[in-house]
Amino acid sequence: MRLLLIEDDVALGEGISQSLGREGYTVDWLQDGSSALHSLLSETFDLVVLDLGLPRMDGLQVLRRLRDSGSNLPVLILTARDATEDRIAGLDAGADDYLIKPFDLAELKARLRALLRRSAGRAQSTIEHAGISLNPGTQQVSYKGEPVALTPKEYQLLHELLSPPGRVMTRDHLMQLLYGWSEEAESNTLEVHIHHLRKKFSTDLIRTIRGVGYLVEERG
Ligand code: CA
Repeated sequence: MRLLLIEDDVALGEGISQSLGREGYTVDWLQDGSSALHSLLSETFDLVVLDLGLPRMDGLQVLRRLRDSGSNLPVLILTARDATEDRIAGLDAGADDYLIKPFDLAELKARLRALLRRSAGRAQSTIEHAGISLNPGTQQVSYKGEPVALTPKEYQLLHELLSPPGRVMTRDHLMQLLYGWSEEAESNTLEVHIHHLRKKFSTDLIRTIRGVGYLVEERG
């Protein structure tokens, strides 16, 4: 899951991104509203955590512009304790949930899981393909009726390749989905994850499209 965190408080931003990173999220973090809006409109994320008080463009405006673009990306807003009006304006502008600062990181995680379940439920039910059954709500995967244990990155990759099958996914798109802007990714890590998926399912599940990316055939 690729998450965009928009928070100008450095200590809080660091705490949230480290904690969510350990949870398996790919976290990209921006500290002002204007670059956040630019990224939201030009890149693909699964989830947004948006502080309302931001430099260069406030969070409410970012949210309105995002919804105006037709996006229904799940957004959780962060607001100050005494800012009831901000919360109401945020929900009216299309936020899916909110948390009042200061909050417990465990609560943030639980609320993000709930948001992902809801958006998964909206978008699709269990994906069935070539003997694979993938439930986006619970993130459980099975193959020919047997549960398969996947790492968060393997799950994310498989989910993307199966949503829906039959589309060639470029290397760049998949790398960005798995690693965001972080520098941690070695150039061959995508190949390693694909290799593991082929081992866990079937060698011919994922086709390599030379020089472009990867494909799961529509008819598995
Ligand atoms: Ca702030």
